[in-house]
Amino acid sequence: MARDTLEILAQDDHLIQSFADLNALKQQGARTVISRAKGAYVYDSDGTEMIDGIGGLWCVNIGHGNTEMIDAITDQLKTLDYYSTFYNFTHPAAAALAEKVAQLAPGHLNSVYFGNSGSVANDSAIRMLHHYNIRKGKPEKKMVLSRHGAYHGSTHLAMAMTTPGYSDGWHAANDLVHHLRSPHFWREGDELTEAEFLEALIDDLIASIDRIGAENICAFIAEPIQGAGGVVPAPKGYHKRAWEVCKANDIKYIADEVVTAFGRLGHFFASEDVFGMVPDIITTAKGLTSGYQPLSATIVSDDIHEVISRPDGMFLHGMTYSGHPAAAAAGLTNIAIMEREGIPQRVRTTGKRFENNLRGLIDIEIVGEVRGGHFMMGIEFVKDRDTKESYPDDAQVGLKVARACQKRGLIARPLGNVLILSPTLIMDEPMIDRIEDILRDAITEVA
Ligand code: PLP
Repeated sequence: MARDTLEILAQDDHLIQSFADLNALKQQGARTVISRAKGAYVYDSDGTEMIDGIGGLWCVNIGHGNTEMIDAITDQLKTLDYYSTFYNFTHPAAAALAEKVAQLAPGHLNSVYFGNSGSVANDSAIRMLHHYNIRKGKPEKKMVLSRHGAYHGSTHLAMAMTTPGYSDGWHAANDLVHHLRSPHFWREGDELTEAEFLEALIDDLIASIDRIGAENICAFIAEPIQGAGGVVPAPKGYHKRAWEVCKANDIKYIADEVVTAFGRLGHFFASEDVFGMVPDIITTAKGLTSGYQPLSATIVSDDIHEVISRPDGMFLHGMTYSGHPAAAAAGLTNIAIMEREGIPQRVRTTGKRFENNLRGLIDIEIVGEVRGGHFMMGIEFVKDRDTKESYPDDAQVGLKVARACQKRGLIARPLGNVLILSPTLIMDEPMIDRIEDILRDAITEVA
């Protein structure tokens, strides 16, 4: 007799979960089984309703259970379930989505390579730049500058670009990456003003380029706001300054907008509209389909596309599911919904209210810093606010607050001493205010 699905889920020994304490998961009740979702809410296996305060995993931007999305994906599958974009094959959905993404992307970013995850989008960016530099007769230009606190994914290359400390440390591509200083002013700024800290970061970038040699560096990669590193914005003006240094040294600037694009900061892309610069490559995923299908995009400049499409050999890079028809259909419909409903514009108001509400939590004693912007926020808990002394890891304060939130009907994401909030972008004012109330109660209970 078939076992009940919930029984299987509760005792699951076969599914290896991501970023999980696999040993702890063996204990009864360690898992939260999410069975259903609609709009801004999810429901667990007991039917308990919870606000999805993390938008799935910073991705369900238009909200759950949107029937227009489901119909578009189904219709696409009925018409063309699968075809590749290898060799000279293409299909209407991938071509149309590439055109649409190019229209939305800033400046000269007009060519799109699709993958199925943010990790692959970042790997593809570096693979493309290696190809680009080989074509330009500079095969030694391979190194990547990343930053402490970064998260760029979990493949070997993407994890090598991620901050040290996020994994067991060995990745096949470690030698390819140098990590610059963390841009976290509140934690790393010491006695400096924010403007002085910015200069120190730019000095570190220039010194690193001088030491490694610009002729050996293909790219600088940065999230507009570091996400999984604890929601860390850089000092004002940082991205533009870093981009200018890169430009002067023939180093391509990759903006990892896997989280920040598609409305989370109030614009389709944050690089130009929020941070005032047009990078050479933007990588994105998550909000591109609002999580309804796995899809990523590596969007490259006309210069890069011109060089990699020169008539001297093939572009030797490919993924079976690059531009998958169902994912492309999801992307097109997701963008159409966002445009029709003015979601990015709405976020500039609702997201600002969310940000301001959360900033108000700073009056609770264990809250050291509230940071981020709009619907991408982090709250860091500290043992001592004056000295910024952290709680030891085993105090698990982030986890305790997340559990206290869940008990009250809000899913939030603990990351060490930081609690991350990145809800769907369809939150209305009462929901936003309710999140603030739940957070205040939950943090006060743990404090
Ligand atoms: N880049 C950033 C900024 C991310 O936050 C993530 C995932 O959270 C990734 C890349 C990796 O994306 P994926 O998990 O789809 O591979």
